[in-house]
Amino acid sequence: MNNNWIIEKLKENKIKITIPRQKIAIWLDKKNGIFCASEINKKIKTIDRVSTYRTLDLFQKEKIITPIISLNGEQFYEKNNDNEHHHHIICTKCHKTECIECTKPKIKKTNFKNLNHSLIFTGLCQTCAK
Ligand SMILES: [Zn+2]
Ligand SMILES: [Zn+2]
Ligand SMILES: [Zn+2]
Repeated sequence: MNNNWIIEKLKENKIKITIPRQKIAIWLDKKNGIFCASEINKKIKTIDRVSTYRTLDLFQKEKIITPIISLNGEQFYEKNNDNEHHHHIICTKCHKTECIECTKPKIKKTNFKNLNHSLIFTGLCQTCAK
């Protein structure tokens, strides 16, 4: 049996593994790309919305997931262990998302240190553009 890193992390931090937390952790472990609470509610019917939001808040606090973008009032997140730095594109109609490579945009001059960037592309996916 392979260990679920999310459950391990919760245990390490002495957080109780409730049923919604466990179910979302298992789903999240297999999930690639960005996701939102509605997607979880569609996939895991036994968890109510409130528990989903609370679990996502907790996972965010525990640095398991990171908020990426808010679109039409829906917050999208991504798992923190998702490989290297990259960017996202999201369909504004159906909320289908994809991860995309970074083209490393360069800036010429700034007085800022510890530079970082994030980038979100929005558009219509092939299905929605028809
Ligand atoms: Zn779409
Ligand atoms: Zn991604
Ligand atoms: Zn980048």
